[in-house]
Amino acid sequence: MSRLWSDLTHTLSPYVPGEQPQIAGLIKLNTNESPLGPSPKALAAVAAEARDTLRLYPDPQATALRRVLAAYHGLESANVFVGNGSDEVLAHAFAALLKHEAPLLFPDISYSFYPVYSRLFGIEAETIPLDDAFNIRVADYRRAAGAIILPNPNAPTGVALPLADIETLLADHPNAPVVIDEAYVDFGAQTAIPMIATHDNLLVVRTFSKSRALAGLRVGYALGHPDLIAALTRVKDSFNSYPLSRPAQAGAIASVQDEGYFQATLATITATRAKLVEGLTALGFETLPSSANFVFTRHPDHSGAALAAALRERAILVRRWDAPRIGEYLRITVGTEEQSGRLLAALAEILCA
Ligand SMILES: *Cc1c(COP(=O)(O)O)cnc(C)c1O
Repeated sequence: MSRLWSDLTHTLSPYVPGEQPQIAGLIKLNTNESPLGPSPKALAAVAAEARDTLRLYPDPQATALRRVLAAYHGLESANVFVGNGSDEVLAHAFAALLKHEAPLLFPDISYSFYPVYSRLFGIEAETIPLDDAFNIRVADYRRAAGAIILPNPNAPTGVALPLADIETLLADHPNAPVVIDEAYVDFGAQTAIPMIATHDNLLVVRTFSKSRALAGLRVGYALGHPDLIAALTRVKDSFNSYPLSRPAQAGAIASVQDEGYFQATLATITATRAKLVEGLTALGFETLPSSANFVFTRHPDHSGAALAAALRERAILVRRWDAPRIGEYLRITVGTEEQSGRLLAALAEILCA
């Protein structure tokens, strides 16, 4: 069909999501989904929306959800933008805020959607290498920058950046939008949200997919100065006026209102993560310090590709990239205690073989 494609379509190199295969008994530790269900209150709210009102369009501004998120984070509704998953929010940020004369900067090892969006929106991007311990060095960002985007904690490493470093980035680039993608922040990093009050160039992007166990509902949001939110809204209303369905808006509100469930599930996952890291260390793995719901780990004597393939044969899926610097690493989602135990047992068996 390529003769019918636009020129732009020919130039794209789309993001490849982690696979979602239908294998019986599969232990799926490849896409950082939560092993614990969503809040029962969120599920009830979603179910309650399966009724006659589905014939009506949802609130295009998601007014109630934005109000709830604003109150939760100590901000105003004018500071809140919501979208159909944070990937969509990020896409709107690229279109609305990240294209300038100077290049967009992001780490060489980072969320692989950033180069994809750069291409889609014709944004010149420059990658800044992480240091040898896979840390972001903010001093390396002291160069011409049209904008900056980075995840905190970083993906797929799980390594967190201290707030003082984000403060430095913001101060070094007062006239460039700085986007902090906090997809995993609830699992142990510090949020940059308090700096929104003093920095009009900061946009913080969040998702309900990881810490709120609602990847299937597709809800993400951004927080920032009202001028940044207005830019995102202009792009959204030039693209899709109704990105969030009625069930999505209702479920997201109920999730935010169930703080007890949220905190309990975070505690479970971070406790399982600590045990998983211990188990991996006992097997000789070297694991980066994780502030996320996954670990990034390598074994000095076994190739990443071989380990991933051997796990797959045992119906355990993890994620790996054939990419410079990280090819020997496995990114393993923190599952349930039981899944972690089975993963460690499988690795022990593979290492002995
Ligand atoms: C998972 C993830 C997202 C996107 O999540 P959505 O499901 O689209 O909300 C964004 N950024 C990073 C770094 C992620 O890992």
